[in-house]
Amino acid sequence: MAVVIDTVAAGRPRHPEKAHRPDQPALRKPDWIRVKAPVSRGYAETQRIVRENGLHTVCEEAGCPNIGECWEKKHATFMIMGDTCTRACAFCNVKTGIPGALDAMEPRHVAEATEKLGLAHVVVTSVDRDDLDDGGAAHFAAVIGAIRARCPNTTIEVLTPDFLRKDGAVDIVAAAKPDIFNHNLETVPSKYLTVRPGARYFASIRVLQRVKEIDPSSFTKSGIMVGLGEERNEVLQVMDDLRAANVDFLTIGQYLQPSRKHHPVVRFVPPDEFKALEAVAYAKGFAMVSASPLTRSSHHAGEDFARLKALRAPR
Ligand code: SF4
Repeated sequence: MAVVIDTVAAGRPRHPEKAHRPDQPALRKPDWIRVKAPVSRGYAETQRIVRENGLHTVCEEAGCPNIGECWEKKHATFMIMGDTCTRACAFCNVKTGIPGALDAMEPRHVAEATEKLGLAHVVVTSVDRDDLDDGGAAHFAAVIGAIRARCPNTTIEVLTPDFLRKDGAVDIVAAAKPDIFNHNLETVPSKYLTVRPGARYFASIRVLQRVKEIDPSSFTKSGIMVGLGEERNEVLQVMDDLRAANVDFLTIGQYLQPSRKHHPVVRFVPPDEFKALEAVAYAKGFAMVSASPLTRSSHHAGEDFARLKALRAPR
């Protein structure tokens, strides 16, 4: 198993919709999936700052395998709008259910934590909030505004939900001018029904396309997981669809199964296949590609964004 927070919290299952499903098989992890144990002083300090500000991170909630490495460097990815998601994707470890009200102080707390962690680049993601009229878009914009005001030199990356059936929501977030707008497709279209049943592939593509329509000079990013049973040709098709939407940056990582109730890992994709996918993606015109077993959207996000920006700078 990848990790982690999978059990019953306060008497309530973390994933009630999955609790009665049969256990899925769990493949043994290969040697190339090796992660650093979360034991450093930097890790403890990051954890303290996150807790003191009453924040959630996707690093913890999703059981990210890179947490030991990232938190040692104080690179935490904030997950706003609560710890409970209104969707129930088959790959995701974030708790599902009915979320609470938005915290009006959260933008300030995220900005304060960004400052205390000394982040040159901050990544902000969220749970899905299908219960809100705007899907939480105005809250995203408020968080971006608060970070800008408090940490004007920090670049801001948002990793948003799809805002499905929330007209105008993408425009609200884009108008707040994050430095990079990420929305993950997560998987190939044929797997949506089983992996991401609450989402629609072309609606997700449309999010990314819309960001570029609003501001053609903006940076966009998307990612998929492999190992969910997708075919190579389908991955190549996703690349073409993303390039048709002018997406700049593609991430591809290995899917890891959070628990036996989640979608099984169909295959561990070996590192050389990631290298080959990376080469194809560059050939298809992405400005930046990160493809490896432990690639995650926010892994090395700051360094990668600096490189991406440099590629566009006049020479
Ligand atoms: S890769 Fe992203 S989600 Fe994972 S620990 Fe690093 S910052 Fe957090």
